[in-house]
Amino acid sequence: MALVVKKFGGSSVASTDKILNVANRVLNDKHPDDQVVVVVSAMGDTTDDLISLAQGIDDQPYKSSYSREMDMLLTTGEQVSIALLAMAFQKLGQPAISLTGSQIGMHTSSNHTKGRILSIDPARVIHELDKGKIVVAAGFQGIDKHGDPVTLGRGGSDTSAVALAGALKADSCEIFTDVDGIYSADPRIVKGARKMREITYYEMLEMARLGAGVMQPRSVEVGQHFNIPIHVRSTFTDTPGTIIREDYTMEEQGFIIRGVAHDEKVAKFAILGVPNQPGVAHKVFAALSDANIDVDMIVQSIRNVEQDITDIIFTVEQNYVAEAKAVIEGVAQKLRALGVEIDEDVAKVSIVGAGMLGAPGVAAKMFGALAREKVNIEIISTSEISISCLIKADRLRAAVNAIHNEFFPID
Ligand code: ASP
Ligand code: MG
Repeated sequence: MALVVKKFGGSSVASTDKILNVANRVLNDKHPDDQVVVVVSAMGDTTDDLISLAQGIDDQPYKSSYSREMDMLLTTGEQVSIALLAMAFQKLGQPAISLTGSQIGMHTSSNHTKGRILSIDPARVIHELDKGKIVVAAGFQGIDKHGDPVTLGRGGSDTSAVALAGALKADSCEIFTDVDGIYSADPRIVKGARKMREITYYEMLEMARLGAGVMQPRSVEVGQHFNIPIHVRSTFTDTPGTIIREDYTMEEQGFIIRGVAHDEKVAKFAILGVPNQPGVAHKVFAALSDANIDVDMIVQSIRNVEQDITDIIFTVEQNYVAEAKAVIEGVAQKLRALGVEIDEDVAKVSIVGAGMLGAPGVAAKMFGALAREKVNIEIISTSEISISCLIKADRLRAAVNAIHNEFFPID
């Protein structure tokens, strides 16, 4: 007997026909005494549609004052898909029950729209499995100490599935999606992108953090925490996908770069002409942190030695531009800065690979590819296993292709 957790994304459950297909597929793959938990996202673009609805009330629905209500709204999406999938199983003769985030015991922080899982108490899930039912669990949602629904950030169903697999000590965790695995770059942009058989948690986390949309970054962290291999594969075919795990087996070793990731949902802020004094950066970033806004790339540059002023430049997620703008304009005024500039037409392109540790010339190779393509680099940032460049958004496609060709030449 095996306990398996399977997650199906929004595109896999976009219509009632597709929901019936998912139910069929799960039943075909199920051994008679397997216990199965299916985690689902909201149908198709439901979450986006719900956000658009909220924009009908206020065009900035992500303001922190609305965040509790946004979660109340967004959690309805998954409530629809779980009910329909449980009905689909029943229709096919398989007992099944749908459970919300609260019913699966998914306890989260109170950071609405960006909740973190604190603990999982899956007693109800186990009880229903032991009765022979398939449990259909709502992804993306949990409940905080006040009993309020909290969502786990966009793409959070991945995290729900992996965390539930960890809490249940599941034998496997499969993430079914509309692509058949993890690629060395987005195959919609790069023709020669290669599917990986395996990738480590460490590298996948960096790929996901830098924009590879397949998995929510937090889900990879959770997989690493529980040491659960995550199999990312297609809903529509039987071909094996990519396994995210602790280490490579022999055949997949020897890469310097694992992939090229990109992120268009970034915006650049520049606070111009702030005093070059201790405590200034702290004031800027503490204000953003108090407003719960994550900052990504940061540079500070001396602009004018005589006047002793600097520019502080950083990027934030595009969803938070309006909030960040309000915060930063307040801080800039207090610091008597010369001005604030915001550029939303930027994008970030990154290379990721644990093999770059100790391999000289990797950055030069990346910048060389961009130079030949005449792509200007606005900001560079690095981590141990990645290098990222902020560029103009309209050069993104060219940049991703040039860098991919550099590291994965088409033979
Ligand atoms: N439905 C949510 C979203 O679109 C969660 C998910 O799909 O994982 O972000
Ligand atoms: Mg998703």
